[in-house]
Amino acid sequence: MTSPTFWGPDFEALEQQDPEIAQLLLAELDRQRTGLQLIASENLTSPAVLAAFGSVLSNKYAEGYPGRRYYGGCEVVDRAEELAINRAKELFGAEHANVQPHSGASANLAAYAAFTKPGDKVLALSLAQGGHLTHGSPVNFSGQWFNPIHYTVRKDTEFIDYDEVRALAIEHRPRMIIAGATAYPRLVDFAIFREIADEVGAILMVDAAHFIGLVAGKAIPSPVPYADVVCFTTHKVLRGPRGGMILSKAEHAKEIDKAVFPKMQGGPLMNAVAAKAVVLKECATKPYQNYAAQVIKNAQTLAAELNTHGLRPVSGGTDTHLVLIDLQGAGVTGKEAERRCDISKITLNKNSIPYDPQPPMISSGIRVGTPSITTQGMQEAQMAEVATLIADTVKETDDNKLKAVAARVNELAAKFPAYPRA
Ligand SMILES: *Cc1c(COP(=O)(O)O)cnc(C)c1O
Repeated sequence: MTSPTFWGPDFEALEQQDPEIAQLLLAELDRQRTGLQLIASENLTSPAVLAAFGSVLSNKYAEGYPGRRYYGGCEVVDRAEELAINRAKELFGAEHANVQPHSGASANLAAYAAFTKPGDKVLALSLAQGGHLTHGSPVNFSGQWFNPIHYTVRKDTEFIDYDEVRALAIEHRPRMIIAGATAYPRLVDFAIFREIADEVGAILMVDAAHFIGLVAGKAIPSPVPYADVVCFTTHKVLRGPRGGMILSKAEHAKEIDKAVFPKMQGGPLMNAVAAKAVVLKECATKPYQNYAAQVIKNAQTLAAELNTHGLRPVSGGTDTHLVLIDLQGAGVTGKEAERRCDISKITLNKNSIPYDPQPPMISSGIRVGTPSITTQGMQEAQMAEVATLIADTVKETDDNKLKAVAARVNELAAKFPAYPRA
């Protein structure tokens, strides 16, 4: 194992002081470099983002907002947060940005805190069909403190059933409607959601955690003109540090800021805020826009290639960075496919498909995404090979033969190294 060029003297100090953790960092770097990283919600962030994230800004308490803090000595971190806010507003054409949420779930909790009261009705996509835990799961605050109502995807097309969204909205008059999901490969029609929200006087919250990077790269339409509030993570396609962010209309700015702090969080992670500023600057460049477009081209090519192996993409394909695969034709469950992929060093996750006959812990599908392999430089030309490796793995019943697939995976990954070697 070798350390990357961007880990300098600090890493040597860590190796001296805590060799156990230093070895684990190297082992994880090695893992990210060698396999195929196909988890749709992951990416490989830049050394510049990592530098800001691992910085002395982590030391600073800055409860409050720039110019209105509860602690002294915030004049430097104020500038970092202002840069992050201004870059977010400019990149997304948003009237207001809050860059402090610690994660996507925290951003969503803040949106609930800003607009709803316990017991309120919230309409969101069914969890079994791609919705997130924070969209009304019984094991999450959203399902315990609120009254979730769930829309579904159509059985025939596997696209969101907008007629059902409208009918449920009219029947239940929810306080908030959530659009956006965690395992939905298609574009969401924000204009229809806006219309429905207006018809029933609901707040429209778009949970853009998965696809906001594609919006940032101008590769798909933006929810910002339509939504009252857009919540997202900064570490998925966007390729920033682990964290969350909220965009909103100016009229909701005060409520959102109060919801994030002091209602929901304490001090912000200023190192993360600075790292968010760094990624937002990256996102405004032509190379990032090319990246976002390539992520989609790769996903579409991968979906088509998987189909030729009898692995059916749910909804017939994808408009985004992710492909949901129905394994029923291949006679293997999602759980078993994930286990086989672990052996061949293809990292992905099992996933329920719409109207899945299997329980979630088994499931009939897998979810794959192209953010990481596209960051590594893979293009359409490599997607046929990636599809073949996935198909050879999920259909292989002999674990010993999966070792040979792992060697082919390693060979492909080595041609597109994740981080430069020292
Ligand atoms: C990933 C995700 C989240 C949660 O993000 P965390 O940073 O893991 O808390 C919320 N909503 C959706 C739709 C997501 O995909």
